[in-house]
Amino acid sequence: MPAQRLDGRQLAAELEEVMAAAIASGLPRAGRPPGLAVLRVGDDPASGVYVANKEKACARVGLVSHGAHLDAATPQAEIEAKLRQLNQDPAVDGILVQLPVPDGLDDRSLLLELDPAKDADGLHPLNLGRLLRGEPGPRSCTPAGVMALLRSNGIDPAGKRAVVIGRSILVGQPMALMLQAANATVTVVHSRTADLAAHTREAEILVVAAGKPLMIGAEHVRPGAAVVDVGIHRKPEGGLCGDVRAAEVEPIASALSPVPGGVGPMTVTMLLLNTVRAWSQRFGLPDPAPGY
Ligand code: NAP
Repeated sequence: MPAQRLDGRQLAAELEEVMAAAIASGLPRAGRPPGLAVLRVGDDPASGVYVANKEKACARVGLVSHGAHLDAATPQAEIEAKLRQLNQDPAVDGILVQLPVPDGLDDRSLLLELDPAKDADGLHPLNLGRLLRGEPGPRSCTPAGVMALLRSNGIDPAGKRAVVIGRSILVGQPMALMLQAANATVTVVHSRTADLAAHTREAEILVVAAGKPLMIGAEHVRPGAAVVDVGIHRKPEGGLCGDVRAAEVEPIASALSPVPGGVGPMTVTMLLLNTVRAWSQRFGLPDPAPGY
């Protein structure tokens, strides 16, 4: 039987509808829609596409975009001042700094400047600490998107062996914490792991976030595993691929997320959800998407 498709596009569309309905019903009490500010510095071309996608998603769901695009030569202090201004802005519920920022800027200091309550990406150290402690707070969008995909497809991590490939602060580390919080038994593997396949073949849930095109094939996958491919790469001949050789893994796995159309759309949706949730909390409204 071919693997169940972990369809991020469909779940993103469903959650967009849920958020749009929550905004419509909360609007009379709040008096204004949720606002998301995406701060872009410099002209990284991929970032341009990502920011445009985020703004389009805001428009579809009913959030107001308060984006700003600063010149690559903007001094650190000026960007930090802009972030403080957005922290104070009563129309803004979520803020993110589009990464990467140009060389010479310190992205860590920029993150520290954010009001943790408006941290739409869930990457402020306070919010990462909350995740570590199992306390509520905005969660990192990509791993939160993976958890949402598993949940909506009836894949419960409790009691399962999960393996996460990658240990970045952006994806691998928060992913491992979220799976552990959902009662999986988690192993994190990385570029210095000896005999990677011996570990990955144990996984009932395998999350691949190595950033290496097509590195995971049939020899790495336990029959019946749920495989989530976080990687995203432009192929030289055009189109996108992930870290997983999908055609090889699909016949073995019980579930597989496609690239494109798997984790990517969920990342944007969770960004919006963090923002709509912050707005709901500010105005004493119910949680827009309980459990997600
Ligand atoms: P990253 O910071 O480069 O981290 C990659 C991790 O993978 C590192 O921990 C690295 O190990 C590990 N790794 C690299 N090569 C490996 C190998 N051969 N075997 C085992 N582990 C290996 O990347 P990231 O930011 O976490 O992103 C990972 C991928 O996800 C990228 O392709 C990125 O484009 C994609 N991504 C997608 C979305 C989305 O929305 N779909 C969002 C974010 C990221 P070391 O720690 O030992 O170096």
